[in-house]
Amino acid sequence: MYPTHMLAGLMTCASCESTIGQISGKGGGYFGCLGAKRGICDNKVIVRRKLTENLIISEVNKQLS
Ligand SMILES: [Zn+2]
Repeated sequence: MYPTHMLAGLMTCASCESTIGQISGKGGGYFGCLGAKRGICDNKVIVRRKLTENLIISEVNKQLS
C-alpha cells in the first residue's frame, strides 16, 4: 500500500474536495483534480508534477533550515 509518489493523497481540490492526483503521464506527469477527471468538478487546472514537487520540496527545506 505505497502511494505512487510522494505527493499522492496529500492534496485535495478546493472546489470539490476530491484528491489531487496524477492525471496524465505526459511530460513527466501532471497533477489535477481527480473529480474533474471523472466529470464531477469544474476545476480543470493541471500542474506539472515536477513543478509541484519542486515547490513543496523547497518549502520543506525552508521549514527545516
Ligand atoms: Zn475538484
